[in-house]
Amino acid sequence: MVCTACGAVADDDEPRPFVCPQRRPHDSGDSADHVLARDVDLRGCTLPEDGSSQPFERYRELLHCYRFARRAGETDAHWCERLGTLDAAVAAVDGKGFTETPCAQSDGLAAALGVAEVWVKDETGNVAGSHKARHLLGIALQLGADRSTEAPRLGIASCGNAALAAAVIARAAGLELETYVPPDADPVVLARLAELGAEIVTCERSEQAAGDPCFAKLRERVAAGVVPFTVQGTENGLCIEGGQTLFWEMLSQVPAPLDRVALQVGGGAFASAAVAAWREARTLGASGASGALPIFHPVQTTGGHPLERAWRRLADEVVRSFDLQGAGTPAADSDDRALAAWLRERWSSPTLRDELALAAARPARFMWPWEETPASVATGILDDQTYDWRAVVGGMFESGGWPVVVDDDTLLRARELGREHTGIDVDATGAAGLAGLLALASAGVLDAGEHVGVVFTGVQR
Ligand SMILES: [Zn+2]
Repeated sequence: MVCTACGAVADDDEPRPFVCPQRRPHDSGDSADHVLARDVDLRGCTLPEDGSSQPFERYRELLHCYRFARRAGETDAHWCERLGTLDAAVAAVDGKGFTETPCAQSDGLAAALGVAEVWVKDETGNVAGSHKARHLLGIALQLGADRSTEAPRLGIASCGNAALAAAVIARAAGLELETYVPPDADPVVLARLAELGAEIVTCERSEQAAGDPCFAKLRERVAAGVVPFTVQGTENGLCIEGGQTLFWEMLSQVPAPLDRVALQVGGGAFASAAVAAWREARTLGASGASGALPIFHPVQTTGGHPLERAWRRLADEVVRSFDLQGAGTPAADSDDRALAAWLRERWSSPTLRDELALAAARPARFMWPWEETPASVATGILDDQTYDWRAVVGGMFESGGWPVVVDDDTLLRARELGREHTGIDVDATGAAGLAGLLALASAGVLDAGEHVGVVFTGVQR
């Protein structure tokens, strides 16, 4: 695990490689955007195309949480047995354990979007009703490999699918969980959290402090020794690899490479996992990931779109930098599509890489909490800020993608179209990727021959 801002490396034997070892408290003047990310040696590995239907078993040799345990002396058989025991406990708590989720082509959605193929990966039937549990199972497996310390106490800032997933897995693992939630959290979710034995800590918004008070509480409690059992890459970099299993599955389920993938973005861990999964699959020589990355389109709502703001500001900086060097600029009338194509052509240039490094050192110029309290029907992607934003912006720069901002009408239309054509009981957040594709289709961006992909991430409650 390596910091993408300062390059610090977490010791291979570090039992909790969650945050950068060089990160200092925010009030100490350390303003860099320390995020630990996987930098796993993939030489000699391939992406398994079949095998176990349990994703963490199938992909275990690629996972840091497995490699750590093996280095610590655990046998492959024992690790798989430990996974099986935890998975069975998850099934006992939630009614189902982890297994490959469906991915199917929808002719109805292809017709609605005017493209050749639309592939829908359905995570609504996953543990706790969303993809979030994938992000957290890897952290639980990492914690389970360390028998040198007493049982950790876990914490998560969420009042939705992530909190529900955390509560299921914590219960299954026999660990105590604190959930930090806002005063207006859904009573149905709170009741289920209480039923699962999670402690509920209500966090009020403050006039003095900008940003999400639940997130601030998480940081406060982590400083006091609580383990960040959370789906924000900045707070626990290991949450990303579990999410990658979703996209590796998708790659094995879709017969031809996808041209374009739309991804709903709140805190950014889901989209960050997508970008990492595709890059690693390419390194591994996976058939669906040879050549160019699919064009990545993060999707946010008109109620709050800090990632779109960050992409635009950083793109402007890159253009200015090329201009200062006399190295050319995009045409004056460039729209987002043309700007994204211009950036993709310069992905490997040192000038662009320098700007990304500068952004890691000075993130506050690009990413800060949304000024108003974000509001939308897609309540699951209303994070005040996109925590793992640089990974997603890098994925856009490399793939030629750009962010899409959608209104509530489009989100509701996507939810209805999604249900009508796939029969999946998706919610508005879970259909936000499809909403992004609808907006792109309206703008005339999609070509008739395209193969596009989307994930229905969460079930309607
Ligand atoms: Zn760092």
